Amino acid sequence: MTGVFHVKHFDVIVIGGGHAGSEAAHAAARIGAKTALVTMSRDGIGVMSCNPAVGGLGKGHLVREIDAMDGVMGRVADRAGIQFRLLNRRKGPAVQGPRAQADRKIYQREMLREIEQQENLTIVEAEVTDLVMENERINGVVLSDGNSLTAPSVVLTTGTFLRGVIHIGDVSYAGGRMGDKASVKLAERIDSFNLPMGRLKTGTPPRLDGRTINWDVLDFQPGDDEPVLFSFISKEISAQQVTCGITHTNEKTHQIIKDNLTKSAMYGGHIDGVGPRYCPSIEDKVVRFAEKESHQVFLEPEGVDDHTIYPNGISTSLPESVQLEYVRSMVGLENAVITQPGYAIEYDYVDPRALSSKLEIETVPGLYLAGQINGTTGYEEAAAQGLVAGLNAALASQGKDPIQFSRSSSYIGVMIDDLVTRGVTEPYRMFTSRAEFRLSLRADNADQRLTPLAIELGCVSPERRDAFAEKAEQLALAKDALTSTLYSPSALRAVGIEVKEDGTKRSAYQVLAFPNVCFDDLLKLDPELERFPPEIREQVSRDALYATYIERQTREIASLQKDEAIRIPADFAYDELSGLSNELTAKLVKARPETIAQAGRIDGMTPAALTLILARIRKRSGKLTA
Ligand code: FAD
Repeated sequence: MTGVFHVKHFDVIVIGGGHAGSEAAHAAARIGAKTALVTMSRDGIGVMSCNPAVGGLGKGHLVREIDAMDGVMGRVADRAGIQFRLLNRRKGPAVQGPRAQADRKIYQREMLREIEQQENLTIVEAEVTDLVMENERINGVVLSDGNSLTAPSVVLTTGTFLRGVIHIGDVSYAGGRMGDKASVKLAERIDSFNLPMGRLKTGTPPRLDGRTINWDVLDFQPGDDEPVLFSFISKEISAQQVTCGITHTNEKTHQIIKDNLTKSAMYGGHIDGVGPRYCPSIEDKVVRFAEKESHQVFLEPEGVDDHTIYPNGISTSLPESVQLEYVRSMVGLENAVITQPGYAIEYDYVDPRALSSKLEIETVPGLYLAGQINGTTGYEEAAAQGLVAGLNAALASQGKDPIQFSRSSSYIGVMIDDLVTRGVTEPYRMFTSRAEFRLSLRADNADQRLTPLAIELGCVSPERRDAFAEKAEQLALAKDALTSTLYSPSALRAVGIEVKEDGTKRSAYQVLAFPNVCFDDLLKLDPELERFPPEIREQVSRDALYATYIERQTREIASLQKDEAIRIPADFAYDELSGLSNELTAKLVKARPETIAQAGRIDGMTPAALTLILARIRKRSGKLTA
């Protein structure tokens, strides 16, 4: 190659502008590091490669936490949201998950805008073909045009691009996502680090032309009447709202799939990688849940001025002709036209146990990994890792101490700890059950948990800092007002609050934890409480509701830890334990942990499941000695 090549210097270079890369670059720039975001195409920034939706159970918590650190995903999703639903609305606040279906184009546009407007952040449109090494540590990247960029910290967020292979039936070809090139050279450089690697797979459904769907015969699912937004600083929704259609697979659909299983890339033996069991392909569903006659399929518009429909629930790697046949077997889809076939993708990931909790590769100083390359799946998981890697890369470049997210204060901490200590056996996805302290790690209090840390780090806009300070002051005043006076049972009964006549005086805060008592009931006790706005009333009520549970939970966890050395008999019958999920039972039967401690390290294990096993062991040993 001839020509004059240039070298430019940055503090942090982020490779890849997907969900991990955008968040990483923005975070690094927010704390003042001169940052380059190198990505194949500007148009690829913020692309949603699969489902046009953000949030959900566990994932919504991650988005709130990213937002609490002044990250971008939450506010971009709020601007792009075309249907908002709070999942698990009828359950307790700890397991409720905000979710929004997004207009794909608005999401991309708004993410690009955030990146372009951020100070200290430069977008470089190029493919990174190699990494620059100096004395066994990273010192920059080489671009496909021959130019180089130098930096002491590099964050690699290339998604499925490590030896990505796309499969549609028995046709397969190399590529990261539909329409993208695979970064073979970069993969070779990563090979040279001798990192432990694995192979995973994931899939996406065919996209449909909404104009060819018979909507008249379908059921609909509208969004919530009162949308719950992601960002603590968003005030209102801006995009036009939509409803989703619902159809179902049926006996005929299942028969078509069964008749063609050998043509599926996943079942025809073309794919070795492990896929996400909790997000199965339609082939998987038909085989694994053979007793089910029908599966629900949500028909989700990809945008307000886009006819593309995302049929949620039928991801596949069957040939295109079979996809068309089974799609058309469903009510309302008899004449549906497929605009892009579904496909499966296999790719290499780096075993995240090779990383420290900063997400830096232990053996390659200065090189950080975030996103799907670490074996996770999902935009939210990718973005949260991007935040952690971007902040730490920037802090290191500034010679400052790293930031650690703990399991006890955030879902981000839970995920990072799971990844770097347990690794992954299948694409890792966040669930509320992964967090042992979930009663205190709620989506509603993510700002209380994390924004002070973000302010200390200096990665927060003045607007958010002021809004947070105002809210924190109001919350403190409200808690003070609720705890400063103790009321006798007769005083409480006099205003209609049912309590035992046990002579115990209680604060209004304690009373607020009672079922059937809401903040407004307290106004009769103290009309001054009227001054607190609805947002503060709601937050204080949630804190009060969980106050006693959190104390109890902390004790439960401590006693569980003591029991960790207990041995599990080799013939322990996990399948006889009611309350254990099928997924966990299968994992336990396979792993046959010898002790509770080993069981605790199994991917997806929960404190509740460990308690169940412990109880059975105690019962058994009780019987034996009796
Ligand atoms: P990506 O968003 O893929 O971004 C990677 C970026 O790196 C791209 O912009 C690319 O252009 C850039 N890049 C790559 N190599 C280079 C290079 N050498 N130089 C410069 N730039 C480079 N998640 C779910 O939760 N549910 C699902 O159902 C689901 N289905 C999926 C189906 C498919 C087919 C795929 C591909 C993913 C699916 N996912 C799903 C996962 C989700 O899309 C990803 O986990 C998430 O997008 C990962 O974000 P990321 O930032 O790690 O990677």
